[in-house]
Parts: sequence; structure tokens; C-alpha cells
Amino acid sequence: MLVVVANAALIGGLIEACREVIAANADHLSELDRAIGDGDHGTNMRRGLEAVYAERNRLVQLPMPKALEEIGLTLVMSVGGAAGPLYGTLLIAIGRQLGGSNGQIEFARALEHAIDAVARRGRASPGDKTLLDVLYPVHAEVVRRAGLAGISEQAERAARLTFGMRAMRGRAAFLGDRSIGHVDPGAKSCALMTAAICRFLEEQCPA
Ligand code: ADP
Ligand code: MG
Repeated sequence: MLVVVANAALIGGLIEACREVIAANADHLSELDRAIGDGDHGTNMRRGLEAVYAERNRLVQLPMPKALEEIGLTLVMSVGGAAGPLYGTLLIAIGRQLGGSNGQIEFARALEHAIDAVARRGRASPGDKTLLDVLYPVHAEVVRRAGLAGISEQAERAARLTFGMRAMRGRAAFLGDRSIGHVDPGAKSCALMTAAICRFLEEQCPA
């Protein structure tokens, strides 16, 4: 899909879309984390997105790959918890891939490479009840060129599916079988931001 929008407006809009959806859902994310973790996921993510937002005037001046990398670094430094380095790794890796080879690498390949980097960093696999359980299906939809609405729906569905999973990584893994019957907070934040990004891109490029 071709999105015709100036680079600065695109970067600024993506930052704002993620910041807004995380601020609106921070309490819910922390509530999910209270059930199977330590209750801070919403606070962590809100702090991270506010830090990125505070830097938006500088970030919108950068080429997209560099901006993604810088956003990732800010998330690593500000989110804290397990999720900070993982979301940070995702964005840094996407940015570095997109910036390499004179920008000839397509988004789907950059995303695949970045998701693998997150999996290595977290030593996590699909089905471990983490944000990766949303990232892999999102990548599959991007490859399928499902369209923005399809990607959002798939992300939401994937987050809901973590309800039935047993956590194998992160704090929730300490609960063993008791982690079953709860949506993973990281999967939920990932689905929310995916949907917010897709909504923003759809608004830029109505069918
Ligand atoms: P913490 O667990 O340190 O309090 P957060 O609450 O901010 O950090 O983030 C928790 C989320 O991070 C989980 O819901 C899960 O999606 C993700 N997560 C935790 N550990 C891992 C891991 N090893 N690999 C992938 N994702 C993980
Ligand atoms: Mg937590």
C-alpha cells in the first residue's frame, strides 16, 4: 500500500497515535500485569511513550530508519522492565534494516529480522505468552498484504489467544499453570499500538 504523506508528518503521527492509545489504556495494561506480573506494564509503557513524545520535534527531522532507531533507544532507556529492551530492540532492528542497503530492504523483511532479534533477546518462542505472540501473526499479515484493517484484527485476535497460553518467559512464567486464563499485558500493548498505527495510516490513505 502506498502511503503518501510527508516524512515528518508520518513520524509525528505514528508517535502521537502510539502515545495516545497507551495513555488511554495504561490502567488496563497495568491491571492485566497485576494478574500475572507486577502490575507496572501500563505505567512502564506510558512513561516510554511520553519520553518519545517529548523528543518528537527532533525525531520528525530524521529520515524514517534513523527515527525508528532513535525511538527504540529512547524506549530502552525509559520504559524499564522487560518490555523496554524488547520494544527497543524491535524498533532499533527495524530502523537499522530499513537504513541498510540504501533503503532497498522492504518493510516485511525488516520486520521479520527485527522480530527474530526480539525473540533472541527474550529467549522466547511463539506460544510462550509474550508480545511475540502478536508480532509473529502481524508479520504474517504484512507478508500476506492483508491490508491495514486485516492487520489490526489479526493483532487483536492474537492478543486474545494469549488468554489460553501458559507463560514460559518473564515474570508470568513463575505462575506456571496459574498464568493460564489471562491475556498477556505485553501482547495487549502490542495489539493496541498495531491497531493505532493501522488506524493512523488508514486515515492518511483512505480507500
Ligand atoms: P516486567 O515484567 O519487568 O515488569 P513489563 O511489565 O513492562 O515488564 O512487561 C511485561 C511483558 O513483557 C510481558 O507481558 C511479556 O509480553 C513481555 N516479556 C517479558 N519477558 C519476556 C521475554 N523473555 N521475551 C519476550 N517478551 C517478554
Ligand atoms: Mg510488569
